Amino acid sequence: MAGYAKYLINANLIGGEWLSPAADQSILVTNPATGEELGRVPAFGAAETTAAINAAVEAFPGYSSLDLAKRVKLLRDLHDALLDNQEPLAALLTAEQGKPLAESRGEIAIGAAYILWFAEEVRRTKGEVVPSPVNGRQLLVTHHPVGVVAAITPWNFPSSMLARKLGPALAAGCTTVVKPASLTPYSALAWGKLAEEVGYPAGVINIVTGSARQIGSTIMTDPRVRKVTFTGSTEVGKELIRQSADTVKKVSMELGGNAPFIVFDDADLDKAVQGAMIAKYRNSGQTCVCANRFYVQSGIHDAFVKRLTEATKALTVGAGADAGVEQGPLVDQSAFDKVKELVDDAVSNGATVETGGKGHALGGTWFEPTVLTGIKTGMSIAREEIFGPVSAIFRFDTEEEVVAAANDTDFGLAAYVYTRDLGRTFRMSEKLQYGLIGVNEGLITTVEAPFGGLKSSGLGKEGGSQGILDYFDIKYTCVGGI
Ligand code: NAP
Repeated sequence: MAGYAKYLINANLIGGEWLSPAADQSILVTNPATGEELGRVPAFGAAETTAAINAAVEAFPGYSSLDLAKRVKLLRDLHDALLDNQEPLAALLTAEQGKPLAESRGEIAIGAAYILWFAEEVRRTKGEVVPSPVNGRQLLVTHHPVGVVAAITPWNFPSSMLARKLGPALAAGCTTVVKPASLTPYSALAWGKLAEEVGYPAGVINIVTGSARQIGSTIMTDPRVRKVTFTGSTEVGKELIRQSADTVKKVSMELGGNAPFIVFDDADLDKAVQGAMIAKYRNSGQTCVCANRFYVQSGIHDAFVKRLTEATKALTVGAGADAGVEQGPLVDQSAFDKVKELVDDAVSNGATVETGGKGHALGGTWFEPTVLTGIKTGMSIAREEIFGPVSAIFRFDTEEEVVAAANDTDFGLAAYVYTRDLGRTFRMSEKLQYGLIGVNEGLITTVEAPFGGLKSSGLGKEGGSQGILDYFDIKYTCVGGI
């Protein structure tokens, strides 16, 4: 088990105790590459979630009033612990999620980097002394931790998505209740173990697995939870926003995408293909920022398709834990069925299969890395998140046409543009209605920059100097009679 057995923790962390359920109250977690059982985590619900919120409420006064230097030290120690355990944590991530080991190592590294970033950034969350319009007053603007934060995370990045939430929450002085995805709970439980080892006080980090509906509605209806940070589907995000109304909580939402990847005639073809491979096939296409719709200008279309098809055919498909593998299996059967349905719909409506197009000979949930051309707007694949290793390619002629097509979606997370025209670069940055825009780059996520979508892709930012602000309440104090 490549050293990760110690992280297969079949219990939840609540108020500093690891709690296990009755034998029949558990969720089976399997390895998507082998189908083997990894273990069973608690299928907890409302009662345990309330206990976790109670623990976080109780821990808040002590933790939020720790010296800032002590909170920073705890974060730095957590960062070091993540990197010291990078290999077993990466192996664990690959075992439960399926992505290639190299990508899992990268995820652990960027997760640790978020923790370090927020340890540094919290020291720069300055308030303000605002000039008063009349003499004899001081106007102070100060930051205060919001209180208990609940974090709900998805299966595709079970470690780094947690880092983007725990990093700023813990830095700001908040206590937390974490609900990881049921398909990939072990990465989050491992964070709990490491946090305990580096000395986080009981109740600062609580982790509950189980019924999403019960845990979700308990979090949303409890007025003591002051902020909810969610990464997942737009459908669930919208439901959580609705549920947040009655207790007027802060919410931040990292939701689905439908990223356009635009290649203009003047693009550097080598760079465009290289960028396309990473923007499309990372995590077998299961990322929210994956290129979903390729738009390729007529003059470069055929050359780009030829090169992308060759590169796609050359991908090494296999179990993420095996050396050299670049494409792991899809996370489960329903993910496979969804990708197959989208491809079949496109093909039956006239798309051409350049390579792939069906389940891989390995069986299970592997899907062949696929390139489709002749994609048209009416096809489901053009409107829905594919979440699989399928490049769906449109041909276009003019800049105006492609901007209109790229923006013709409810989503607004990531967009990619390949061009060597400087003026066009700035026009694209201005006109594309997306929160993240990569120009001549296919992988742009970095801890230093704000990550977050527009329109139905979400609310708020993670990372950058912006990523901590939502974890504070801002107070204004007017000191008069000076
Ligand atoms: P999901 O089905 O929305 O699940 C996300 C999390 O929400 C899981 O922990 C899930 O628990 C929980 N959940 C489900 N129903 C809930 C409910 N009614 N109340 C409270 N919690 C609930 O999404 P997913 O399939 O795991 O993740 C893929 C989606 O995430 C894609 O749309 C992707 O684009 C998006 N994503 C966005 C970003 C971003 O930064 N914008 C990053 C990564 C992924 P269970 O697992 O127990 O169902």
